[in-house]
Amino acid sequence: AVPSSGQPDDAQGRARPHVVFVPSAGMGHLLPFIRFITALSSHDAVDISVVTVLPTVSAAEADHLAALFNKFPGIRRVDFQLLPFDAAAEFPGADPFILRWEALRRSMHLIGTAIAGLTPRATAVVSDVTLVSHVNPIAKDLGIQCHVLFVSSATMMSLLSYFPIYLDEKKNPHAGVGDVDVPGVCLMKRSWLPQPLLDLEKLFTKQFIENGREIVKTDGVLINTFDALEPVALGALRDGKVVAGFPTVFAVGPYSSLAATASETVATTAEADDDGSPPMAWLRQQPARSVVYVAFGNRSAVSHEQLREIAAGLETSGCRFLWILKTTVVDRDDHAGVRDVLGEGFMERVEGRGFVTKDWVDQEAVLRHPAVGMFLSHSGWNSVTEAAAAGVPLLAWPRGGDHRVAATVVASGGVGVWMEGWSWDGEDWLVSGEEIGEKVKEMMADAAVRERAAKVGEEAAKAVAIGGTSQTNMLEFVAKLKATA
Ligand code: UDP
Ligand code: UDP
Repeated sequence: AVPSSGQPDDAQGRARPHVVFVPSAGMGHLLPFIRFITALSSHDAVDISVVTVLPTVSAAEADHLAALFNKFPGIRRVDFQLLPFDAAAEFPGADPFILRWEALRRSMHLIGTAIAGLTPRATAVVSDVTLVSHVNPIAKDLGIQCHVLFVSSATMMSLLSYFPIYLDEKKNPHAGVGDVDVPGVCLMKRSWLPQPLLDLEKLFTKQFIENGREIVKTDGVLINTFDALEPVALGALRDGKVVAGFPTVFAVGPYSSLAATASETVATTAEADDDGSPPMAWLRQQPARSVVYVAFGNRSAVSHEQLREIAAGLETSGCRFLWILKTTVVDRDDHAGVRDVLGEGFMERVEGRGFVTKDWVDQEAVLRHPAVGMFLSHSGWNSVTEAAAAGVPLLAWPRGGDHRVAATVVASGGVGVWMEGWSWDGEDWLVSGEEIGEKVKEMMADAAVRERAAKVGEEAAKAVAIGGTSQTNMLEFVAKLKATA
């Protein structure tokens, strides 16, 4: 058969699928998209387009998008203009990334025209979760598949899809949000929920509920996890225990920047990862497993007072450390000097054993470096999966959003240890440097924790290897794309 779009057929007479990715804002959303797109592009006979909104919120997003299009000239860039939206006036003080999600959502009705105009004809959309309640109906109108590429855990997916049902079934509709017992998964304590969910009037919460209701109507959900890491949540989603009739779940993680080369020779040695940047050059000189890597993601602003306690903790721990210091939510606004933030004399006192930078580092490469012994992290899901893949124990200090939900997986999956009592954004107390230093020292010496994390690393490698659960799920996803193309 010759398809009307003129796309070449495969041997079975099926047209070539053309997948349009619709990513959202923030590196925690964009990086998993880039990694997945990179992996998919290694499967031949799939055309790929990426909806791109410029300028991006952060400089890191602009850099990574440019690098993607540069590396894969065959991937189409679909430029998309947002409608005017006076976000600052309507939602004063709101997080700039969540405002961008809202701006995207308010412009999404125009995306149908952009997608319909593509040649070859689009056959599927892969949407970020923050946009799905707008994108899925458009895909249905166009008669094409709609999948969600979820940037958080299967456990978080279970909360997202069950939360609207929890609200509908609440005996007293006027009572506030309490603990949420997600069927087949776990009792999610109120204090573990992303903080905005406790207020149903919040912009984030409204988006979350609309997206949670819609996700059940999509054709499939891709999750950056693997069966051995979250067997309970994945099982419950797949069995329809969380929500009846849940779409196919493709657990295809951990996503990796190496995925493009998965079918070729994979460069996994420390030398191959070394991009020659100052932090990597410094790491190269450190003994095996001697360095504490400290990073709180790309958009978690920790208060200056708490940063100084972290500094004191790292100093008293006596350990070597590599610290990625961020002092603002958006990287473009971060002009504070390291010395001003951490106090006079700190850099001198830790000279030789501590490296602090405000630059973007390739965290995946850092975590795979043999010098790294543990990761003090905010427990953002990408960071958790990168630590899991590298087999590096993670000390989870959740700061907000889905971090506590992710930390439940850190603990249950063997990735590391969750400091459940440590402060959460919005709480006005500090975890002392003394306590941080003690915990870091203890974890660096804990052989059992290290072994468990190494085991998770082995399971992650098995999952993405040929015949592994994630690789099999990926092939099933590609087959589904081809089935109706
Ligand atoms: N990241 C990085 N270098 C940096 C800062 C962040 O590579 O200097 C990456 C990190 O590896 C992860 C992502 O940015 O892939 C951050 O996502 P995560 O879910 O961990 O946290 P978020 O930033 O969304 O809070
Ligand atoms: N999220 C979601 N549905 C939405 C909006 C967000 O499931 O409509 C998820 C999102 O993927 C993330 C969490 O809610 O897992 C929000 O976490 P956070 O506030 O830390 O922001 P993010 O890390 O996504 O930038």
